[in-house]
Amino acid sequence: MSLQGKIAVVTGASRGIGRAVALRLGSMGAQVLVNYVSRPDAAREVAAAINQAGAQAEICAFNVADTEATTAAFKKILDDHGRIDILVNNAGITRDGLLVKMEENRWDEVLATNLKGAFTCTKAVSRAMMKQRWGRIVNISSVIGFVGNAGQANYAAAKAGLIGLTRSMARELAARNITVNGVAPGFILTDMTKNLSATISEKIRSEIPLGVLGTAEDVAGAVAYLVSDDARYVTGQFIHVNGGMYMG
Ligand code: NAP
Repeated sequence: MSLQGKIAVVTGASRGIGRAVALRLGSMGAQVLVNYVSRPDAAREVAAAINQAGAQAEICAFNVADTEATTAAFKKILDDHGRIDILVNNAGITRDGLLVKMEENRWDEVLATNLKGAFTCTKAVSRAMMKQRWGRIVNISSVIGFVGNAGQANYAAAKAGLIGLTRSMARELAARNITVNGVAPGFILTDMTKNLSATISEKIRSEIPLGVLGTAEDVAGAVAYLVSDDARYVTGQFIHVNGGMYMG
C-alpha cells in the first residue's frame, strides 16, 4: 500500500487520532502536511517523527473554522506542491452540555469546526483533485453521529452532518476517480476522552463488546485502508472502529 509521491493533508494532526493518521500515512510513503490550530510544538513533534521514519512532513497552522484562513492555507499548499492527493478531515472539538442549557455559541463553535470545517477543506481540494483525476477524502465522524448522545446534541449533529456530506461528495466526485469515505470511531483514548470520569469510562467500557477503549492507531488503520489502492472501488462508505458498540 505505497503512497509514494502522494501529498496528504491531515487536519488536527498535532494530537490524538490525527497524529496517528499522519504518522501512518507518512509510513506509507506520503508527504504529510500536519495541520494544527493551537499547539505548534506538538505539530512539530509529529512532523519530526515522520521525517525520522524517512518520509517528508511539514506543519501548517490554520483554524478549519476560519474559511478565509483555511482557503488561503490550501492555496499555498497547492502553490508549493502542485497537488493534493489525500485529505483527512479530522479536526474536531467537543462543547458538551444538555440542549436546554446549551448556549448558542457552543452549538455554533462545534458546527463551524466539525462540519463546516470539513466542507471548507473539501471545497479547497476538490478542483485540484478533479484535474488530477485522483483523490482520496476521508472524514472522521463518530459513533455519536450514528446513535446520538445525551449532552452532545451539537457534536452529534455535526458528526451526522458529515455522513450526508461524505455521501453527497462521494456522488459528486466519483466520475473523477475521487473517493470520499468516512471513519466512525467509538471511544478512543485521546485528549478528547481522557477527562471522562472513572464511572463514565467504566460504563462506556461495559457497553463495548470487545471490552476495551480503542486507540488512535486503530482509527489510523481504517484511514490507511480507505486511501490505499485496495479501496479503489469503495466510496460513500463508513468504517466503524468501535469495538462493536454499534453495528451499523
Ligand atoms: P484531540 O486529541 O482533542 O485532538 C484534536 C486535534 O484537532 C488537535 O490536533 C487540535 O489541534 C485539532 N483542532 C481542534 N480544533 C481545530 C481547528 N479549529 N482547526 C484545526 N485543528 C483543530 O481529538 P481526537 O480525540 O484525536 O479526535 C480527532 C477527531 O476524531 C475529531 O474529529 C473527533 O470528533 C473524532 N472522534 C474522536 C473520538 C474519541 O473517542 N477520541 C471518537 C469519535 C470521533 P491543536 O493541537 O493545535 O489544538
